[in-house]
Amino acid sequence: MKTNNLIAYSALALKSILCASILWLFATDHVLAQSNQATLIKAGTVIVGDGTTMSSVSIVVVGDKISEIGPSSSVEAPSGARIVDLSDHTVLPGLMDMHTHINSSDHDGGDMSVLREHGAHGAIYGVVNAEKTLRAGFTTIRNAGALHYADVALRDLIAQGIVPGPRMYVSAASLGITGGHSDVNGWSHLIDIPGTGMVVDGADNLQKAVRTLVKFGADHIKIVATGGILSSGDAVDHPQYSDEELRAVVEEAGRLGRKVIAHAHGAEGLKAAVRAGVASIEHGSLVDAEGIELMKERGAFIVPTLLILDEIIEFGEERGIPEYSIQKAIEMSDLRETALRKAYQEGVRFAFGTDASGNLHGRNAQEFEVMIETLGARPMQVIQNATYDAAELLGILDQVGTLEVGKWADIIAVAGNPLEDITLLETVNFVMKAGEIYKHLDK
Ligand SMILES: [Zn+2]
Repeated sequence: MKTNNLIAYSALALKSILCASILWLFATDHVLAQSNQATLIKAGTVIVGDGTTMSSVSIVVVGDKISEIGPSSSVEAPSGARIVDLSDHTVLPGLMDMHTHINSSDHDGGDMSVLREHGAHGAIYGVVNAEKTLRAGFTTIRNAGALHYADVALRDLIAQGIVPGPRMYVSAASLGITGGHSDVNGWSHLIDIPGTGMVVDGADNLQKAVRTLVKFGADHIKIVATGGILSSGDAVDHPQYSDEELRAVVEEAGRLGRKVIAHAHGAEGLKAAVRAGVASIEHGSLVDAEGIELMKERGAFIVPTLLILDEIIEFGEERGIPEYSIQKAIEMSDLRETALRKAYQEGVRFAFGTDASGNLHGRNAQEFEVMIETLGARPMQVIQNATYDAAELLGILDQVGTLEVGKWADIIAVAGNPLEDITLLETVNFVMKAGEIYKHLDK
């Protein structure tokens, strides 16, 4: 019996090694330049990420970091450096999407996918979506909910270079109340249906849930503070979770060095989450005057996720999104525009986020145009929301978010000037992440 086991294990081990080699071959295929070679990028205009620009500069990348930036006339290429000529391009820091569901399918029609799919489905979608996202110029993402720790696994395999994709910060499953946005509602009580997140009630249970999520790899905790669009039986303006429950989550996460991000549309649930100390409000659709003041006071961010609501209204029916969700989106649309524009104009911190799910993966940059239209923002502001501000929200501004010496070499380039036409960011010609080139259309 023991020998049989040994043979079985050896066969399994051999299989793993073979699979790993194949994966490795596959992975290196996606990297156009390894980070051990120094690179000198000749840049036309540079959008630094902090609201400033530079022109005719060269950027030297050694290993995974930027080692020098200066006027092209004075910067010398290290010996053996690869020269990348982007002098007819605008060069920017890698973009950062603070709200993705990278493990969601291309045909996600609401909460029913939990009934039709296994955890492995999410893992495989993640591999496909991660590459699309990276090639679209997004070198960092914050994932805001995934089942079966599929986002944890994807984050780790991307970090190991096995799967091409953006640098990931993940929440694993969201925490939500019984009957709320993370639950699946409207069915017979005889059917035991798993949630779209982790369904947990009560401060003690939430404390344990936070510890469990952190134990299995969560970088931050996502909590559902109000009803949502893609769930039945809950209203977007009703709070979910009591103040005590919200505090328990934020306190426990804080003890473990984790920030909390809160899904909130309605004003009351939003304010309760901000008072409890969350770092960001996801969506923030119906934020009121008191909420705006509170968020400014606490330095909490809104991640507005605008594009997805328009998509649900316009294409929801053909993509199989349930009628109740489309109806919720329509009812909220105008109110949301007024509320979020006011918050943006009055100085609440905003960070770029799309809620990328369904077929939004790789189209993340379309959010910029909607931000400008909805929030009354300027192109430079929304670029900053997707670089400097996003990095600050994640707590990694010392490593990323602007093009500066000593930071990770996350660098993208587009033809033309996105400050004149923001939609140019939808066509990225060059993508470098941590010194490795993943896309260079001239090549
Ligand atoms: Zn979301």
